[in-house]
Amino acid sequence: MNEQRKIEKRACPYCDGEITEAGFPFCKPCGVTLLYCVKCQTAVKREATVCPQCGGELEWK
Ligand SMILES: [Zn+2]
Ligand SMILES: [Zn+2]
Repeated sequence: MNEQRKIEKRACPYCDGEITEAGFPFCKPCGVTLLYCVKCQTAVKREATVCPQCGGELEWK
């Protein structure tokens, strides 16, 4: 049974913990609010200015 198309699991890029989503992604272990990179959808810290995954610039509003 490897035909399942599971939804991309969001994991914190900093502690590898699972991200809780309640309106916005939040990592409990890190205690930080995360945002998704608009380019690669990777969860990154709000303070980050560059996505650790794709290296793209992050522009939060
Ligand atoms: Zn974390
Ligand atoms: Zn990215």
